[in-house]
This record gives sequence, structure tokens and C-alpha cells, in this order.
Amino acid sequence: MTTFAKAVRNYEKMCTERDIPAETVMSFLVEISRRERYDLYLHYEEEIPEDLEQYFREGMERILKGEPMAHVLGYSWFYGYKMIVNPDVLIPRVETEELCAYILSRIDRYFKGQEEINCADIGTGSGAIGITLVKEEPKIRMTVTDISEEALTVARENASLNEAEMEFLCGDMVKPLIEQGIKLDVLVCNPPYIPQDEPMEHSVVDYEPHVALFGGEDGLKFYREVFRDCRLVLKDKAMMAFEMGWNQREKMSALVEETLPGARYEIIRDMSGKDRMLFVYFGLEDDKKA
Ligand code: SAM
Ligand code: GLN
Repeated sequence: MTTFAKAVRNYEKMCTERDIPAETVMSFLVEISRRERYDLYLHYEEEIPEDLEQYFREGMERILKGEPMAHVLGYSWFYGYKMIVNPDVLIPRVETEELCAYILSRIDRYFKGQEEINCADIGTGSGAIGITLVKEEPKIRMTVTDISEEALTVARENASLNEAEMEFLCGDMVKPLIEQGIKLDVLVCNPPYIPQDEPMEHSVVDYEPHVALFGGEDGLKFYREVFRDCRLVLKDKAMMAFEMGWNQREKMSALVEETLPGARYEIIRDMSGKDRMLFVYFGLEDDKKA
């Protein structure tokens, strides 16, 4: 038998020794106890119920071995929505929540007054982006795609869990959209963008699908493909929104200028000050800043 305080301190110490953020311990306990954080602190010196303690211990042992907390739980939170995750999908990241927030603000700016906004989320993985956009902006009609059938199975589960209506297509980047003759106002894509040889954390490379991570030699393979084909699926007035790697600004700017000449674009930093998002605009004039 042990108290909440002792158990948490014990695992926080072990996490720190293994370069895992100590904060993980409390986050995990909050999730599995289904209690608010303040409530746990109020009862911090009390004994942990036995079944909770066992679950906590078993889960923490997996986390200490490097398994992501989201895999131990079977879900993670994204923009306030619960998303089922498993090793077939990328665990949605906080940077991607920011991408969604910027997309929603740009939609307000550029598509005001329009009754329906046709949108696609390419490489949807867990479905996190597509689901969030549909839930937050009811004018959106959403198609989500992925090359992985297994990922689409998870995306379907998440759409139904969150009661989000959308179409699902399996295929290579924009190809399924071309085949369906879909014309978009907004194309969103968080493609795999890590250069093939980049050294990475074990908890990512060992547990997350490589098809979701690596974007060829320089990480830009999928942007090249989308830039090449995008005019086939975009309306004349349209916007594209991408997540990108923090160190890709120069190469990305050069690629946009070379392959989409004349298009207006902006690269936006995330909350930690890193270049993270690329927005490209066709026929949409920026007369006022958001
Ligand atoms: N959209 C999700 C998110 O933001 O959390 C997942 C993004 S993950 C970085 C990239 C996704 O693209 C993965 O789900 C992967 O299966 C998918 N993908 C990889 N290659 C693809 C391709 N050629 N065509 C379509 N999707 C692809
Ligand atoms: N941000 C993810 C990571 O660093 C990669 C996501 C991506 O390639 N789109 O693990």
C-alpha cells in the first residue's frame, strides 16, 4: 500500500532518470483515475486504491520502457476531442492543434459568407485534423484520405466517437481526390516530413508508423507531389495549409516559389517559436490582417 504522493514521486524520479518528462506521471494518473488534477492533490497523502495502484504501476512500467503514454491509454486528446490511437497512426501533436486553429481563423477571413466549404485532409492518420475542423466549423464538408487502410480504420472510429460526418478515401496523396473529381476550397495536409536519415527519439521511431514520419531524403517529397498536382483538385479561389519541419523554411520557400509561381504564401511559427506551418493562397486577396 502506498500514497498517491509516494507513488507519484517515485515514478517522477524514475522518469527523470530516463529522460522522460516527470509531468507524464501526473498526466497518466489523472487519465486513469478519471479525476481532476486538483482533486488528486487534495487527497495526495491518502492511499491509492489497490486496483488503481496496480493499473498505475503496470502502465508506468510500459512508459518507463519508452512506450508513449497515448499507446498505454489507447487514446490521446486533440483540440479537446478524444482520439483513439494505436501503432497504426501518428499520435496527434500539439503543433497540429495550432495548425487547426490557424486554418479556422483563415477560413473565417477568406470564406466568410460562403455557405459550404469543401475541405480535404490528406494523410489523415487518426483523423484528428479532419474531425476537429468539422466539429469547429459546421460549414465544412470534409473528405479525409490516407494511403494506409489501417489508419483509415482508426479515423473512422474517431469520426464516429466524435460524431463527425466525413468521407473516407484510400490512396496516394491527392490521387483519390482527382479520381473522384473533387474540387476543394481548402486542402490540408500534415505529410510525413522527417528526412530519411534524421536521428530520432526511440519513443517515436520504435512505436510510431514509419509511413507517417519519413518524407524522403530531404523530407519534402510529399510537398513536391501535392504542389505538382494541387491545381487539379483546387477551385480558382482556394487555400492550402500544411504542417512542416522547423528547419525547412528556406527549402520550402524555394520549392513554393519554383513550383507554384505567383502564389501568395506565408510560413507561420508555432508556440515555441519554430517555423511550423505553410499556408498557400490562390486568388484570395489579403485585404485585412486577422
Ligand atoms: N494527419 C495526422 C496528424 O496530423 O496527426 C497524421 C499525419 S502523419 C505525419 C502522415 C500521414 O500520412 C500518415 O497517416 C500516413 O499514413 C499518411 N501517408 C503517408 N504516405 C502517404 C501517401 N503517399 N498518400 C496518402 N497518405 C500518406
Ligand atoms: N512532428 C512529428 C515528429 O516530430 C512528425 C510529424 C510529421 O512528419 N508530419 O515526430
